[in-house]
Amino acid sequence: MTLPTQSPAIVLDKVSHFYGQGALRKQILFDICAEIRTGEIIIVTGPSGSGKTTALTLVGALRSAQEGSVRVLDQELHGAGAKTLERIRKSIGYIFQSHNLLDALTASQNVQMSLLLHEGSSRRKLRQRAIEMLEAVGLAEHVDRYPDQLSGGQRQRVAIARALVSHPRIILADEPTASLDKQSGRDVVDRMQELARQQGVTVLLVTHDNRILDIADRIFHLEDGRLVSFTNAVISNTRHMMSMLAQNQRKGDLVNQVRDMPAAQFTELLQHVTQEAEEFLKVIEMSENDAFQSMLEQFLEAFTLKIGQILDADRSSVFLVDHEKEQLSLKIAEEQDGKPVDIRIPIQTGIAGYVARTGQTLNIPDAYKEPHFNPDADKQTGYRTRSVLCVPIKNHEGHVFAVAQLLNKKADGRPFPLEDEERFREFMKPIGVILESWWRMSRGEVGEPQPSVSRPQATP
Ligand code: ADP
Ligand code: MG
Repeated sequence: MTLPTQSPAIVLDKVSHFYGQGALRKQILFDICAEIRTGEIIIVTGPSGSGKTTALTLVGALRSAQEGSVRVLDQELHGAGAKTLERIRKSIGYIFQSHNLLDALTASQNVQMSLLLHEGSSRRKLRQRAIEMLEAVGLAEHVDRYPDQLSGGQRQRVAIARALVSHPRIILADEPTASLDKQSGRDVVDRMQELARQQGVTVLLVTHDNRILDIADRIFHLEDGRLVSFTNAVISNTRHMMSMLAQNQRKGDLVNQVRDMPAAQFTELLQHVTQEAEEFLKVIEMSENDAFQSMLEQFLEAFTLKIGQILDADRSSVFLVDHEKEQLSLKIAEEQDGKPVDIRIPIQTGIAGYVARTGQTLNIPDAYKEPHFNPDADKQTGYRTRSVLCVPIKNHEGHVFAVAQLLNKKADGRPFPLEDEERFREFMKPIGVILESWWRMSRGEVGEPQPSVSRPQATP
């Protein structure tokens, strides 16, 4: 099915904004450019005072644009008349930090209010629609309660129902979870995401709350009124992994850093990094992929090599599986004489190929006695392979998309024990999460709405 190309829901072009007059005039936004597709969920982060609310109110036609172009639903807002602004406002659902419900009205009446602005249906119909929407946000039991009879989370869900009931095409939410506890905050954004997906609504959501970033298709980061680059954005957001990576742009630094880390600390780091990676890898801006990919590549290299070191292997490597081309390509390996290795292997041959095809782990004491072994790589590189431990890495659908391999257990040339096999599989599970995201990104799949990346199972 081909979808008609839709114009973007929101386009900002060189938007600047100023507050104050004369000597007090102060620039708040600087040349903001952004394009948001219909149905995208965008999260806007940034420190307090960085201009998030200002940007949101400009998009929401609640404030006049001063400089640059603000196009919303194919309407230019800069210089637009009152009628146009009003029409645009009717296509937008607003959710603010404080829910702004009317205390004198019940939940259902608060939601009906937003419908009254739009059309002249019968009272009974309006109430029916309000109740349906309250049911959709999980408040079926509470439709006739007043705001002070509801918890903070429930009130915020009423506000969401109110914003959504008139089927807005855009939702603007300014820190909607700020006054909520963790669970209520989660509930609120989950509902918002679900409804947005069902109705194809575009969502622009300002938040400080790192725990909800995973609902975003992309994250925009504002710093002193400027949209900052992806790298800086992730550094601001992920304290750990990304800053570590970014500070180690020079190839090899990260490898060294991880090399001297005790195994237990490394395991902890790996878990931490995986959590952050899960949240972040699917929400990055396409345009900044290059920097990110190179960081990720270093990460994978450092971690794969570290795992090899922990398990006393002489070599460790990861192959990506291309089922269409029926080949494996070597992604991570020790460099040979400082030269990057570019090795491609047909999926029909070799130990890694066998693992890729079958999804089974192979633990081989002596490669040259193993029928699946293909000695070509040894011939090319002059290496002498003895023991091999090779495990599949599966994606969240259970397909093998990569293969990790350890060569030559160092201790006395003995094979890898069963215990190594299990630890290797454990280590490769989180690596698999990261690798899958990376792979999707390199194929340009990131940026589209994704099913959430679950931990792949490495067990055969
Ligand atoms: P954020 O939502 O990121 O905290 P805001 O957009 O609210 O940031 O504010 C950005 C900057 O503009 C801040 O320095 C704030 O003090 C200033 N500001 C916000 N609203 C006004 C206003 N109405 N008049 C003057 N300055 C304002
Ligand atoms: Mg604000």
